[in-house]
Amino acid sequence: MRVFITGGAGFIGSHLATRLIRDGHQVSVLDDLSTGSMANIAHLRDEPGFEYRIGSTRDLPLVTEMVDLADVTVHLAAAVGVRLIVERPIHTIETNVGGTETVLAAASKKNRPVLLASSSEVYGNSTKFPFKEDDDLVLGPTTHSRWAYACSKALDEWLGFAYMRERGVPVTICRFFNTVGPGQTGRYGMVLPNFVRQALIGAPITVYGSGEQTRCFGHVADVVEALVRLMQTEAARGQVFNVGNDEEVSILELAERVRRAAGSSSPIRLVPYEEAYAAGFEDMMRRGPDVSKLFTTIGFRPTIKLDEIIEDVMNHERSRQGRE
Ligand code: UDP
Repeated sequence: MRVFITGGAGFIGSHLATRLIRDGHQVSVLDDLSTGSMANIAHLRDEPGFEYRIGSTRDLPLVTEMVDLADVTVHLAAAVGVRLIVERPIHTIETNVGGTETVLAAASKKNRPVLLASSSEVYGNSTKFPFKEDDDLVLGPTTHSRWAYACSKALDEWLGFAYMRERGVPVTICRFFNTVGPGQTGRYGMVLPNFVRQALIGAPITVYGSGEQTRCFGHVADVVEALVRLMQTEAARGQVFNVGNDEEVSILELAERVRRAAGSSSPIRLVPYEEAYAAGFEDMMRRGPDVSKLFTTIGFRPTIKLDEIIEDVMNHERSRQGRE
């Protein structure tokens, strides 16, 4: 199989590319290196069957060429990370909506299948637990940039369905929940790599808000497994899937578990949201996926537990700090 991955030098994309090459598939990657990095794909550069281009997903001729040559396109390129989203709302909207429009327009020329990356952010302020794919989306006010990201991802999903219905493009939508693992940078605000780094250097572990908010963290290897199965499953086309782990943890407990795993004496510091982000920032208090649809469609359940995930991220960060 030949797979085209937009955002293939990013965190999830590079793990997906590595897995596909290992399985003997051909992989082409397009990335603008805005949040992705060459270091993520350096080990793949000399692999037969791997190629990469540095460029934008809004470049229609380039994207069309790459989509045409592939059996399936996985569109992961997007503005990511809560910090970046809050600080750069124009970039967020333009990248997420413009990029998806280009990929779908390119795919519609020969009706090539596309897996579109969406986000659990689209469930917004919903207080239901866990989130199911056909739940209502409860977005907050337009005055808060965070919702621009949620809305851009919801619009991507609508675009996907529009291209499917009007032009016949086979589209599968993946709503990623918090995905973590080796190689994820904390630079864009993601919580686990930040906590691990802080614990290992003995710095205060910065828990935003009260720490009572909960998340479910999925290991990137589980997420990649789900993607590989979804891209090969005809029955998944035209459908939305929650992709993630359903083991729930509060952020305060996460900080404690990271500290324990590191054998660290870092203090845990509660940081008000307005100090961490900006005044008026809204956080989701509880977020977790119902992953039963993934199981009934592709027979997949997440396998990697949170403590193993923490261990894995920590070992990776230890060796990275050692190299530096
Ligand atoms: N968070 C935190 N400390 C950090 C970074 C994030 O307490 O250094 C919190 C954040 O406010 C949120 C949760 O951890 O409640 C998950 O944040 P992340 O940005 O990783 O993902 P989100 O689920 O918000 O998209």
